[in-house]
Amino acid sequence: SAVVEASPEIIFRSKLPDIAITNTLPLHRYCFERLAEVADRPCLIDGATGFVRTYAEVDRLTRRLAAALRREPFGLGRGAVVMNLVLNSAEFVLSFFAASRVGAAVTTANPMSTPHDIANQIAASGATVVFTESMAADKLPGGLTVVLIDARRDGCLHFWDDVMASVPDDEAAAAAGDQEAGDSEFDPDDVAALPYSSGTTGLPKGVMLTHRSLSTSVAQQVDGDNPNIGFTAADVILCSLPMFHIYSLNTILMCGLRVGAAIVVMRRFDLARMMELVARHRITVAPLVPPIVVAVAKSDQAAAHDLSSVRMVLSGAAPMGKDLEDAFMAKLPGAVLGQGYGMTEAGPVLSMCLAFAKEPFKVKSGACGTVVRNAELKIVDPDTGKSLGRNQPGEICIRGQQIMKGYLNNPEATKNSIDADGWLHTGDVGFVDDDDEIFIVDRLKEIIKYKGLQVAPAELEALLITHPSIVDAAVVGKQVEPEIGEIPVAFVAKAEGSELSEDDVKQFVAKEVIYYKKVREVIFVDKIPKAPSGKILRKELRKQHQQQHPQS
Ligand code: AMP
Repeated sequence: SAVVEASPEIIFRSKLPDIAITNTLPLHRYCFERLAEVADRPCLIDGATGFVRTYAEVDRLTRRLAAALRREPFGLGRGAVVMNLVLNSAEFVLSFFAASRVGAAVTTANPMSTPHDIANQIAASGATVVFTESMAADKLPGGLTVVLIDARRDGCLHFWDDVMASVPDDEAAAAAGDQEAGDSEFDPDDVAALPYSSGTTGLPKGVMLTHRSLSTSVAQQVDGDNPNIGFTAADVILCSLPMFHIYSLNTILMCGLRVGAAIVVMRRFDLARMMELVARHRITVAPLVPPIVVAVAKSDQAAAHDLSSVRMVLSGAAPMGKDLEDAFMAKLPGAVLGQGYGMTEAGPVLSMCLAFAKEPFKVKSGACGTVVRNAELKIVDPDTGKSLGRNQPGEICIRGQQIMKGYLNNPEATKNSIDADGWLHTGDVGFVDDDDEIFIVDRLKEIIKYKGLQVAPAELEALLITHPSIVDAAVVGKQVEPEIGEIPVAFVAKAEGSELSEDDVKQFVAKEVIYYKKVREVIFVDKIPKAPSGKILRKELRKQHQQQHPQS
């Protein structure tokens, strides 16, 4: 047999040198490692009330909650799973780090999710305790210990009155004095966060992000003498993106805490409120997503607020083109705007704009950064698997200690995502240019991004075919205005003689899914094009759609 000579791989690295990364600490200790220096500084600022909690208070409350979680009725310890089903709040932060402290993983979800999605995630993740709020409490299945952060209700525990108050002061004091509490049976490869993501294909799966992966990712962004993102303890960081999404959880919350910055917590995004908060708290860093960047760029209110304190604006989670960047910069000429590129499975950050570095680099608009430090990135030809050189688009792959450990209870999906050499295949198509900057140009994978939020076609397809008049269905994304990004479009083959209308299909789906997963367009077809393997030919469908609706 012929000997095939392996060609050397072309690997891209950061322009910043690697640093020594400590990633063997439990996540809570890593994020609060500078506690002594920042103890009396503001940590969490409530956007609605202006209420300030210092670093020392947040640390103390986290320890107190951890002490409660170890006791009955929780009895949580290493390996347990807690669900955070709340909007942005101090309670989210406290339960997240208290869980870390007792060795439990936190699975996060949007409290606006449907009962069906919530029940699925609880069953799949094995969560036994749920932190939630009134709006979601009725949607929970039975058999759980439920903690409500905003109200009292029969059958639920109240976060402050029942849980925090249950810990005797001497026990809380003991926990406070015990820096190592809960760490004895700790392994850095234990899961700390368990967000759900569909990845490159199929239904949402539990993404196992460990203490090691998350602290590595944070370090890659903000540690070292010349951090990739030059956050400092003097920064005031806006947290208007949902903490249940890994972008906010990691790049805002964990990175913010790690550097000792103040974090202004907005329960949910609102453009006018956001601008008010920027002015009131002299916010210096605003992590956003493209739909919000568009809203600011188009807003005539920007001039009415003093936004001059903002020095850094990050955008991520979805593509942002050069035109949008330029329009936005006209509104905030004093700030540096740049992109990060993340994927839940990647820990999440793959690349970050180097204009944010303490010693900044010049960057191009439209780029989504340079690969983070202590990591390797390659671009592969999706057909041959060969790694490609500069300026040649291919699938982006990343390797490093920040990536997920795998999908929970799903070795098959894990194997299809992380190859034998440790490379995570993103399903994104991009290239690295002559200055090491990454440009994303396309997506191989199925996911649709509606305002930066994931919609998994497989989920909608499974739902659609439960309709008695639908024989087969396929869902693809369609690019629309930048305020939204993409919308789900359903191709539906209906049963013979059925009078099913476009509206019937839309309403059928709308009743069953969270708002951003709604089908916005329906196209009836005779047959869904499929490969012999049964795989839906999505490219084919998109092409058909383009030909039939050339204007859209
Ligand atoms: P999620 O796991 O929900 O964060 O989604 C990850 C996906 O969002 C990536 O694989 C990309 O397809 C997309 N994405 C994230 N950041 C960017 C960016 N800066 N530019 C283009 N697409 C992005």
